[in-house]
Amino acid sequence: MNEYDSNRVGDLLGESHGFEITSKPEEADLILLNTCSIREKAQEKVFHELGRWKKLKKLKPELKIGVGGCVASQEGKNIISRAPFVDIVFGPQTIHRVPDLYQSSLVNCNPGIDIEFPKTEKFDYLPSPSSKGPSAFVSIMEGCNKYCTYCVVPHTRGHEVSRDKKDILEEVRALVDKGVREVNFLGQNVNAYRDGKDKTKGLGLANLIRESSEIEGLDRIRFTTSHPFEFGQELVNVYGEVPELVSHLHLPVQSGSNSILKLMRRRHTREDYIDLISRIKGKRPGISLSSDFIVGFPGETEEDFMLTLDLVDQIGFDESYSFMYSPRPNTTALEFEDDVSPDKKKERLSSLQNKIKNNANIISRRMVGTTESCLVTGVSKKDPGQLQARTENNRVVNFNASSHSMIGEFINLDIVEALPNSLRGVIA
Ligand code: SAH
Ligand code: SF4
Repeated sequence: MNEYDSNRVGDLLGESHGFEITSKPEEADLILLNTCSIREKAQEKVFHELGRWKKLKKLKPELKIGVGGCVASQEGKNIISRAPFVDIVFGPQTIHRVPDLYQSSLVNCNPGIDIEFPKTEKFDYLPSPSSKGPSAFVSIMEGCNKYCTYCVVPHTRGHEVSRDKKDILEEVRALVDKGVREVNFLGQNVNAYRDGKDKTKGLGLANLIRESSEIEGLDRIRFTTSHPFEFGQELVNVYGEVPELVSHLHLPVQSGSNSILKLMRRRHTREDYIDLISRIKGKRPGISLSSDFIVGFPGETEEDFMLTLDLVDQIGFDESYSFMYSPRPNTTALEFEDDVSPDKKKERLSSLQNKIKNNANIISRRMVGTTESCLVTGVSKKDPGQLQARTENNRVVNFNASSHSMIGEFINLDIVEALPNSLRGVIA
């Protein structure tokens, strides 16, 4: 989501305000930092980075520095207390006001702070997104009302608001006209997307996927991140109806233990999750699944953790993300005793990550010998003589190609080797 927001600010400053992007901070007139506060570590990085830029400002006093995103939303004026050389503070919902904040900072000595949540206003003021390749993000909803006990998102991004379906479809059409072949619908809780007043779980997203799949030239649809609680049967059914919807689903479960899920206020049980996956597999056998996990949540016993490991084996997750619990401001879990020791958290994280990695390797090796439909996304990062493509389950495949004309196209690749972080393929 932050990547999407950053690109949109870049588009806005470039298109309507004549800015150019530079990769050299010392050349910049304005430096913006988009921030994440999901875990404490991400938040601390913000102040380290700002410390580096403070030196640049000494050399070039007219340089303006802005901080946006969830740390800005959470900390507001405190950003200025900790880093008084910052000129602009903006939130995730006020990215469209950055040009005005910048203009004011040129004439005003006081820092400009704007961290309101003005619903979907930002989308009315942002230019149509530029595309940088065949795959694009499209934000369809923002915010979250779930208040999982550990999570800052409802506090920093505000409550769920969905964009107008007509506007989203227009944005998708515009991207396809610019050569995009794959869209990734984005939202903190993407399947809570609502079209109008309809309350049926998952129906809004299901219909959006159905309608987007009819757009000529759009061949692949993804969405992220979905929540098991909002995954109604309507959305499950789409896997049986829409071939453009990828055979890969990222569906965070966080824990395999019902008592921890309850303490986390996830609104589903382990059994609900298993049942949901089996219904999805009923519509789309062979779908690849990934997830997010938190280890060391307050009260997590060895037994609870074993249940998480067991769920990983039972579902056969591929390429998941796992994190140590990090206490966050304003969240309910702050009231719980953070009773799993840091060493225990580390130990659990590494055993979970080993298991996840092993599973991912097994799946990669199983892909050797198959032919995969892949979207060619660009030049290989390792070898400029090769191109890079992505499989439906989001794996990178590097392959030899004589020209770059395939970039942006779907091709069939025979998978010939599985490496730890990528696959090797040859054109089928
Ligand atoms: N809306 C999505 C996830 C958004 S946050 C969902 O509900 O599944 C992305 C991930 O960050 C979460 O899935 C969770 O695994 C992790 N996360 C969020 N808050 C955290 C915290 N306080 N400590 C550790 N990990 C956290
Ligand atoms: Fe955070 Fe996701 Fe829970 Fe919302 S549903 S509170 S974003 S973890």
